[in-house]
Amino acid sequence: MASPTATKTPSASTDPESVANELLALCTSAVIESHQLSAELVNALLDREHTAQPFCENVTQPFRVDVLRLDQIHPVLQGNKIFKLLDHISRWQQSSRTGWVTPGGCWSNHLHACAWLARRLGIPVTGLVRGYEHLPLTPMLEDCKRWGMTLVFLDKQSYRQRYDAEFQQHWRDHCDGYFIGEGGALAVNAEPAVSQPGTAAFQWLGQQCQRYESVWMAAGSGTTAGQLMPYLPRDSALHVLNTVQDNGQLAEHLQNRWTHLWHKQNWHLHGSQQGGFGKARKQAKPSLERLDELGLVLDPVYGLPLLKALLQHYRQAPGLNELAQARPPLLIHGGGLQGRRGVGLAWRSPD
Ligand SMILES: *Cc1c(COP(=O)(O)O)cnc(C)c1O
Repeated sequence: MASPTATKTPSASTDPESVANELLALCTSAVIESHQLSAELVNALLDREHTAQPFCENVTQPFRVDVLRLDQIHPVLQGNKIFKLLDHISRWQQSSRTGWVTPGGCWSNHLHACAWLARRLGIPVTGLVRGYEHLPLTPMLEDCKRWGMTLVFLDKQSYRQRYDAEFQQHWRDHCDGYFIGEGGALAVNAEPAVSQPGTAAFQWLGQQCQRYESVWMAAGSGTTAGQLMPYLPRDSALHVLNTVQDNGQLAEHLQNRWTHLWHKQNWHLHGSQQGGFGKARKQAKPSLERLDELGLVLDPVYGLPLLKALLQHYRQAPGLNELAQARPPLLIHGGGLQGRRGVGLAWRSPD
């Protein structure tokens, strides 16, 4: 009998190019699934929060939505985070920094993906965490720690400076790390040109939107939507739900930026309709459980609000609702399933 060491598969290469190619293959393995939501479910999903909305008749028809399942491509490197990190791999190589440094909140899907990918690449990574050291670690931060991420806790005032060039330079030097912006955004003053294979991943994403007149995605930093924009087919409208509750600063920033850069593309920025984070969280669990039964597994922060915004959009205009039956919209699943633990749903972390 072979010894246990002899049967072990050789450890995977940490060469950045092979890892990037591996990620690109994962990205492009995602499939589009059709989901039929019963009229009863659509009404139930919306009525919890929109009882006071005018124009909202109960729907009587089931609603079909097609979903690009980016959540299924990897247990941790799922959703849009992997698309964005692909671009950072080559930028990091050019930077000649030893590792990475990046900010995020205590439930950040971005920190989670970074910690996993840095381990895969065999490089050090520092997470600049918004919050206070004395609080118990969330399961997300526990994962990051276990995977070898160095956690630095910043108070709210320091964290607020994360978009400043001086802040980013300080942490680059302090950790000898390539700086990745919050949510996988580019650092201040980064060259806009994206590199292979990051470009190839977004090109592929753009191709998936073909045949869809209406494509929906959730925005946290707006990075994914911005990177998809040049590859968006002319006939597709991109509906972006802003999930950030910040008195409108992000929406204003994105509106200005995209109006300037992407005036030829057909995009619409929708405001978040969540009635406050706490309230939305409490209500999320039963809705998510009902969708789980259909095999449509979503996260509470982005995916569920996105689906609700989409349904709300079609329900407000009866003509649109009929159109959606003939030509269903495409929802781009952003991943983020580890965040389900934040509302008391199970998610099994890989080792
Ligand atoms: C990060 C994330 C988003 C937002 O992506 P941005 O590029 O920051 O706009 C949307 N959905 C999920 C599930 C995410 O984890």
